[in-house]
Amino acid sequence: MPQHNPIRGRFAPTPSGKMHIGNAMTALLGWLQIRSEQGEFILRIEDIDQQRSRPELAQGIVHDLKWLGLDWDEGPDRGGPHSPYNQAERHALYKEALSKLNAADLLYPCYCSRADITAAASAPHGIASEGRRYPGTCRYLAQAEIKHRERIKKPSLRFKVPDETITFTDGIAGEQSHRPAEGGDFVVRRADGIISYQLAVVVDDALMGITHVLRGMDLLDSTPRQLLLYQALGYHPPQFVHTPLIADAEGKRLAKRSRGLSLSFLRGQGIIPERIVGWIAWAAGLIDRPELVTPSDLVPHYHIASIPRTVIRLTEEARQLLLEPDNNPL
Ligand code: GLU
Repeated sequence: MPQHNPIRGRFAPTPSGKMHIGNAMTALLGWLQIRSEQGEFILRIEDIDQQRSRPELAQGIVHDLKWLGLDWDEGPDRGGPHSPYNQAERHALYKEALSKLNAADLLYPCYCSRADITAAASAPHGIASEGRRYPGTCRYLAQAEIKHRERIKKPSLRFKVPDETITFTDGIAGEQSHRPAEGGDFVVRRADGIISYQLAVVVDDALMGITHVLRGMDLLDSTPRQLLLYQALGYHPPQFVHTPLIADAEGKRLAKRSRGLSLSFLRGQGIIPERIVGWIAWAAGLIDRPELVTPSDLVPHYHIASIPRTVIRLTEEARQLLLEPDNNPL
């Protein structure tokens, strides 16, 4: 009998801020995508950058997710076959990936400071999420020069980005065609030893057997760089869905620290999770009007085609539907 392989998805928050309504939308949609196909859902805490991450925020995220009515089959609080589920504890696996890339001659040490890159005359804007384009200054350093510089400064490690066009189909944004070389060679390990998001997320998703990645649209332009890493490491890439971000009425993206719309704030206002879940489902196009619902109620309503492709504006009316239970019939 053919073996049944369930699809596997994950929610992978960085515990550097409180969970807000935008993160909750990503978590809910990711959970629905997987649960509507009887798949397995994983929670992974992306605390690789210990300076930015705080354990109490990670605990808060776990609490908020459960409060919303979401669950997961594997995660830091319940273990699983791919433990550990905290990036901070997975360093050996990232090191192994770095060795593999190094053996394939795909890495080089970079001694440039941020100021050097900014100062490089030919550094135009790169890829939005990466900052300035890295002009490749250290890619062709002679061995003697490397020897000299390593005595003075610890290098970062950069991945040699090939000048290729990467294409993939995003479940919401559709056909994508990007040239990651426009951003230049990207960092896979910072000078302080911290592994970059791009490398850690690829290693984790691949080793955890993730078949479906659903995350915010802000990460769409990271995907081509991640696909290069999948290729270089010999991993099979997952399918990608990038969901719309929520912006305020002026169109400014909700920041992680945007206080008014954190789940803990909403909870403090006496707003029940079913209202938040219903509001998100409505804003994401899954139901026609905001109703009180649980995530499980929504499973039959999950249709990727209903999710808007553009930013969701938090208009005053939408805000009131969420925040003022007494003034509307929800
Ligand atoms: N850790 C990232 C964040 O919180 C998400 C990474 C991903 O889903 O690939 O924004």
